[in-house]
Amino acid sequence: MRCYYGVDVGGTAVKTAVLNEDGVIIAKREFPTEAERGFEDLAQRLSRILDELRQEAGLTVEDVCGVGVGVPAFLDGDVIREAVNLGWHNVPLRQYLEDALHKPVRVDNDANVAGLGEAWKGAGAGARTALCVTVGTGIGAGIVIDGKIYRGVNGSAGEIGHMVVRPGGRLCNCGNHGCLETLASASALVREAKRLQSVGELPDDLEIDGAQPIFALAEAGNKVAAGIIWDAGHWLGYGLASTASVLNPDVIVVGGGVSKAGEELLRPVRAAFVEYSASRVHEAVEIRLASLGNDAGVVGAARLAAQAFG
Ligand SMILES: [Zn+2]
Repeated sequence: MRCYYGVDVGGTAVKTAVLNEDGVIIAKREFPTEAERGFEDLAQRLSRILDELRQEAGLTVEDVCGVGVGVPAFLDGDVIREAVNLGWHNVPLRQYLEDALHKPVRVDNDANVAGLGEAWKGAGAGARTALCVTVGTGIGAGIVIDGKIYRGVNGSAGEIGHMVVRPGGRLCNCGNHGCLETLASASALVREAKRLQSVGELPDDLEIDGAQPIFALAEAGNKVAAGIIWDAGHWLGYGLASTASVLNPDVIVVGGGVSKAGEELLRPVRAAFVEYSASRVHEAVEIRLASLGNDAGVVGAARLAAQAFG
């Protein structure tokens, strides 16, 4: 049996799994990233845990044909140029992991890898051109065309979070103003909710420690909370309409923490998408919620390895 390790490195946790070539997860485990200990330390811990996973799954060393890794970073080939959330710069991660794991390794951006997972086994399965958007603290997307990740010339394809949708708008982490991320990410929802709370439009005792309390309040019938989600969905739909006008995809998958708002989010997304795209474009598209949840990263990472070493 040909099997692959899928690794999804996040800011707080590393998700790992061993999968067979059909994308079935045989065993999985999660451990704290602790990025401040450095990437050499992470490579060592990862090596130990993957070996334990393999034994747990009853596989031999030879059964595992390669490793795929998703990281929240800008990559140039296999080299991490910048991973802001991990504090890593110019790290030849693939080399370190191959030395530690004694298996061939492929590394890619986490949004690309999660997109590949959804396009292979999730809500984008069967699509010819899938745009898989992750809406969390930031916004990123994986573009999967005929089953392969489209990366652009230096790995920056799919950076739709930094598409300017409101020129002169709020300052973004990237240094630009009015990026989609400043209007439709979880951080944007939280900021807007806190602003509305400060002017007395949301209950004082509401603890806004993420997007979830806003979703819960909207579900309970609060119109202000529902309005925050509507606005974010509207901007997201606007951004997706522009992106789809270039890509002409058949499926758009919306995942990440903000997608937990479900239809409450998709309604304004779909409305804006139709409003801001040509009928030939929006008639071809189905906008769906992601279906793999937290497993999208490890499934996509294993697929990445299978495409390279299968
Ligand atoms: Zn930006």
